[in-house]
Amino acid sequence: MQLTDYIRTIPDFPKEGISYKDITPLLINPKACEFALSKLIEGLDGKQIDKVVGIESRGFLFGMLLAKALGVGFIPIRKPGKLPSKTFSQAYDLEYGSDTIEIHKDAIHQGEQILLHDDLLATGGTAAAACQLLNKLGGEIVQVNFIIELDFLGGRKLLPNNKVNSLIRY
Ligand code: 5GP
Repeated sequence: MQLTDYIRTIPDFPKEGISYKDITPLLINPKACEFALSKLIEGLDGKQIDKVVGIESRGFLFGMLLAKALGVGFIPIRKPGKLPSKTFSQAYDLEYGSDTIEIHKDAIHQGEQILLHDDLLATGGTAAAACQLLNKLGGEIVQVNFIIELDFLGGRKLLPNNKVNSLIRY
């Protein structure tokens, strides 16, 4: 199976000049989802994971599937003001302006082995901010994995201390 067959490129979305990678053709196909999930798990090389952390919102999709498959808990990292209990926040730079993500303060215990997941690695700002939150909570980031990585944006450079695994690289 070729996973790239299930990724659709939408020109000029959400704004002119951006080629958006759409994962909905993957999501709609259960066999392709099963295949992608098995490849993500294979990429862990049997490493022990205590919790899976997914980044809002598409990181929740395979993040939860990964947690279920590994038999561990799932933790959401969310946009500001969405998590109901006490949170840590981390701001990060965008091309124009900045953004913030949050995690519940009590989501992770010191030394827990964490798998961080998002659907796509672009400039790396979001994933790097998520790693900062996980470090603040004392989590050990075992791996950061993505369905898609946009190599030409060099996002990996913002994750120099992490093992990064992506199923598809453009
Ligand atoms: P970064 O912070 O690495 O520049 O951007 C990554 C974040 O933006 C991820 O949370 C991802 O969901 C979203 N994102 C950016 N570009 C795309 C895209 O082309 N397709 C999808 N599905 N998500 C994108």
